[in-house]
Amino acid sequence: MYDVLVVGSANADLTVRVERRPGAGETVTGTDLVESAGGKGANQAAAAARIGGRTALLARVGGDAYGQLLLDAQRDAGTDVTPVIVDDAARTGTAMIIVDPDGDNSIVVSPGANAALTPQDVAAAKDTIAAATVVSLQLEIPMESVRAAASAAEQAGTRVVLNPSPAPEAAALAPELLAAADPLVVNEHEARQLSGLADGTPAAWAQALRERGARSVVVTLGGDGALVLDASGATDVPGVRVKAVDTTGAGDAFTGALATRLARGDTLAEAARFAVRVGAAAVTKPGAQPSYPTRAELEALAP
Ligand code: ADP
Repeated sequence: MYDVLVVGSANADLTVRVERRPGAGETVTGTDLVESAGGKGANQAAAAARIGGRTALLARVGGDAYGQLLLDAQRDAGTDVTPVIVDDAARTGTAMIIVDPDGDNSIVVSPGANAALTPQDVAAAKDTIAAATVVSLQLEIPMESVRAAASAAEQAGTRVVLNPSPAPEAAALAPELLAAADPLVVNEHEARQLSGLADGTPAAWAQALRERGARSVVVTLGGDGALVLDASGATDVPGVRVKAVDTTGAGDAFTGALATRLARGDTLAEAARFAVRVGAAAVTKPGAQPSYPTRAELEALAP
């Protein structure tokens, strides 16, 4: 049995810091390259496992050094990597990240093996999906594979957490996928894009997303915490004040933690309160997975 099975992407994050991000045709010199484990799916799994959730990951990596780095990072976090497929015919997904002194970044993602995670792979993992209390999904693998995972989860009675990121056009999110989401977890950008409300408040975005079919909605609000909306109403979850060093992967930390707490029986508001603390801890250190807290580190974080 698993608390959380994450079905999604795994990428090596290749990061260089620069004084100024280059324009077209321009070359700039940066710092030494830092290689670390990332990808929204792998990030969520690492976050869930580090806080003690029984976690498994279904993803594809290449049979290369980056694939090994990603597997090692998951094992180190405590994730069961048995479902991970090592694909010798593909390169591991990579994100090439350029960060300037203001912390603003430019990112190019090469999906590599992530693009080869098929609905057949998902079908082959049917028993693993049924053995999980929660399945957590994002959109860095083919959409038909995300839909296959949501539908297999529904058939098995497994709860679906969906983070529709990178944000698709509203029309590209199938109604059945939206209807499976309990909750749909969106940041402000995704909330505006998918609700169709360029202006408005987090409560209005969440309400619009429920009207579009999501069973429940969580809008993450960076340093301001999160807004939760489910059948029992709306709850504001305040942020935790920390010194933000690097916000990369904060939303994934939040979602992995939320999924774990939901699996353990928390209400959505209780789970979001816990997840806001995990997200806050994650911004106090550089990188995505390397910044995720253990239970002990979380307890050390100011209330
Ligand atoms: P994303 O990373 O997807 O853009 P957010 O920026 O909303 O998502 O961040 C997700 C969560 O991470 C927030 O709900 C919060 O818990 C935490 N977080 C992000 N930025 C900060 C910050 N500056 N200070 C404290 N917590 C933060």
